[in-house]
Amino acid sequence: MSFSIRKRKVAAAAKAAGVDGLLVTHLPDVRYLSGFTGSNAALVLAGERAVLFTDGRYTAQAKAEAAGTRVVIAKKPVLPAACEWIEAAGVKRCGFDAANTTVAALESMRKAVSGKVRRGLFAPVGSLITRLREVKDADEIVRLRAAANLGCGLFDRMLELLRPGLTEIEAAAELEHAARLSGAEAMSFETIVASGERSALPHGRASKAKLPKQGFVTMDFGVVLDGYMSDMTRTVHFGKALEGERDVYDAVLEAQEAAVAAVAPGVTTGDVDEAARSVLRRAGLDKYFTHSTGHGVGLEIHEGPKLAAKQTQALEPGMVITIEPGVYMPGRFGVRIEDMVLVTEAGGEILTPSVKAWIEL
Ligand code: ZN
Ligand code: ZN
Repeated sequence: MSFSIRKRKVAAAAKAAGVDGLLVTHLPDVRYLSGFTGSNAALVLAGERAVLFTDGRYTAQAKAEAAGTRVVIAKKPVLPAACEWIEAAGVKRCGFDAANTTVAALESMRKAVSGKVRRGLFAPVGSLITRLREVKDADEIVRLRAAANLGCGLFDRMLELLRPGLTEIEAAAELEHAARLSGAEAMSFETIVASGERSALPHGRASKAKLPKQGFVTMDFGVVLDGYMSDMTRTVHFGKALEGERDVYDAVLEAQEAAVAAVAPGVTTGDVDEAARSVLRRAGLDKYFTHSTGHGVGLEIHEGPKLAAKQTQALEPGMVITIEPGVYMPGRFGVRIEDMVLVTEAGGEILTPSVKAWIEL
């Protein structure tokens, strides 16, 4: 495991941000840097030193998971315990991630240190670690591939199980049951099954609605494997397509494939978004594409980079992103197709190669 390499990269980023210590409280960041998966932790990095603070429930787990990091089982809440250590260690300026620190947490950090060091000790440095996490290392890519593969297997299984009359909740239950039996630790997010008119809801949570004899069913789902998340969407059709349905499906598919083809190092996320959006514009459907084209995925389901209109961030090899354009026609139907794509030196590699051609069940 490359925790020491990750910690070194973070230390360099912290130094560049002008701080000599870093207080890490966002749990996915703690996991990324130490391996610890518990629900209560604060990690302090100061020069070569790394100390993980957690509580007595996690004594054995923390020692096993965070093997390369010093573990302190705190007798008080982890945040003040970590801040007292920061003061005692002589850290002059300690960075924290403002985006993941509540006002109450900052108050408790300040209260935990003495008046003489309080002023200027804690400095917001932005999401240094979250930013580093956008580019996945080899270990992470192995895990993301495995999660994505598991997701593809579930889609194949759903093609056998889906039938008109099944409720969306029952379809989601079948999918989640199969996911668990295949070894998923959890679902990455609440499984979306949206059928018939409800397919026009971009985030239609599975309801009691029955899958129709004629119409679309959109399934958006993901699994967690080894902490890493998958995310994919497929839209299938029951019965023969009505007027316009097939054209919309083909336009979304063309938009999705155009955006995947645009993925390459150095290309901006805004350009990838535009690759999808321009196909739908030509088809007169862009006004029904009401969200962004995609997002990074890893230890969290929605990470950077964000793939949206006018974004200027450049893609880098090792990023894992989703490409998920959709068209939603209120009161009629909706179509979305989503893949996970690894940015490689050569372009983009689809990690969820399940069939995307029109499927009629
Ligand atoms: Zn999704
Ligand atoms: Zn997504």
